Amino acid sequence: MTSTFEHGLAPNEANHVPLSPLSFLKRAAQVYPERDAVVYGERRYSYRQLHQRSRALASALEHVGVRPGERVAILAPNVPEMLEAHYGVPGAGAVLVCINIRLEARSIAFILRHCAAKVLICDREFGPVVRQALALLDSPPLLVGIDDSQAEGPAHDLDCSLDYESFLAQGDPGRPLTAPQNEWQSIAINYTSGTTGDPKGVVLHHRGAYLNACAGALIFQLGPRSVYLWTLPMFHCNGWSHTWAVTLSGGTHVCLRKVQADAIHAAIAEHGVTHLSAAPVVMSMLIHAEHGNSATPSTSVSVITGGAAPPSAVIAAMEARGFSITHAYGMTESYGPSTLCLWQPGIDELPLEARARFMSRQGVAHPMLEEATVLDMDTGRPVPADGATLGELVVRGNTVMKGYLDNPQATRDALADGWLHTGDLAVLHPDGYVEIKDRAKDIIISGGENISSLEIEEVLYQHPSVIEAAVVARPDARWGETPHAFVTLREDALADISGDDLIRWCRERLAHFKAPRHVSLMPLPKTATGKIQKFVLREWARQQETADTGS
Ligand code: ADP
Repeated sequence: MTSTFEHGLAPNEANHVPLSPLSFLKRAAQVYPERDAVVYGERRYSYRQLHQRSRALASALEHVGVRPGERVAILAPNVPEMLEAHYGVPGAGAVLVCINIRLEARSIAFILRHCAAKVLICDREFGPVVRQALALLDSPPLLVGIDDSQAEGPAHDLDCSLDYESFLAQGDPGRPLTAPQNEWQSIAINYTSGTTGDPKGVVLHHRGAYLNACAGALIFQLGPRSVYLWTLPMFHCNGWSHTWAVTLSGGTHVCLRKVQADAIHAAIAEHGVTHLSAAPVVMSMLIHAEHGNSATPSTSVSVITGGAAPPSAVIAAMEARGFSITHAYGMTESYGPSTLCLWQPGIDELPLEARARFMSRQGVAHPMLEEATVLDMDTGRPVPADGATLGELVVRGNTVMKGYLDNPQATRDALADGWLHTGDLAVLHPDGYVEIKDRAKDIIISGGENISSLEIEEVLYQHPSVIEAAVVARPDARWGETPHAFVTLREDALADISGDDLIRWCRERLAHFKAPRHVSLMPLPKTATGKIQKFVLREWARQQETADTGS
């Protein structure tokens, strides 16, 4: 019951505004109207223009009949239209569905059908696969094509009735973006990779997007002088909410169509990039690309890494090249980053190797998340903070998804007992920092002992000739499972280093039972976000075992 002295203190328009990242663009357009908001090749838009173009998009969507709460999908690489969609679509009251550009037709069709998309905005390079996907649908969405001059393939590939610029021209750039009436209103649906079964649609709300963007801007120290290079796909967790965080800070978004070492180094030099985000494999690519002196940026570039565990050797190599690394951990279900390995007094004084080892921990809850901890999988109680006892990493707070679209059982399971269950196995250190040892399904059980695949990878990455490494369980008649390492070596080492050399390298640094028994030297299969596809490697390891033993 409200106490008498709080009488008449209900929220009203003066003191309560539903939280939404749409406010960031409105403010940036007021405070920095002429500042470069978006740079892409020859194209440049100021914040005034980004605001106008986003408003025109909202208006055009409304004209073609998109109603509040309906879904608008986009399938495009990191081009300016992707950013506009992050404002124009929710600004029409609609829900944004970014689709992974590496998906095949069947999955694209599944997503469009599952979210009942009214409109699909599509980059023409993906015309052929999108045509196949639309052919699988009974009621395909309206197709709007982005005709980017940097796209590969012929312009007629998409063959759609509307091109993006004409579509925008139908809209009113003066129409204000529609702020949500309720901050719990959905802003985006992001589909998980669905390596087992169909993808699940993670539903996010305006409030969480606002708060996660605030956390991102804080932990990344973004400001109006920031120049952010888009090396992380915007379709992945809305670019870890940086699509909104950079605008919040009034910084510049530098779009990049393809994530290649040359293009990244060139953009850093040309645009004075201050910040970028990169999965560990992208950092490995930067380290091993042959760039002579250009591998070292002239000013320090802040990098948030995450999406997979960054080996400490990779962190150290990046830091030695002048990049300043922040390690974050998260999931699509948590709007991207939810924990980070926060700086502590004394860290800077540590030798590089020890510092990198510390930085490879997943850390503590970010400022907008309520809690992150590790629970015993049997009792559901917190594990002791001893850096050794394994449990499940769980998080809770305002930057956790609403749930999965149209999937109440999966939602209940993921959010059971008041926590988001990550499925990642971790330990809690005495200082309260968590460290992931494996995904639950990646842990190797050999002779009844748990072996962390990440621990073996950590040692492999310390080898100077190793570019990438992934370790998976290989079935074994005697031990149940044994570690099988898949490794990509530097070209110049191929003639000199063998799988046996790498096994010896591991045996010298690890308990013998943890050292891989098999090593395959080859390029590793990856997802669109640069994650190594361990499920593919597990299958290869299984097939090799069958071929070798005939069982
Ligand atoms: P997917 O499940 O499709 O890979 P996500 O991007 O949501 O999609 O992946 C989240 C998972 O990625 C986490 O559960 C975790 O296993 C892994 N991950 C993300 N960041 C890190 C990190 N910093 N360290 C270790 N693992 C990470």
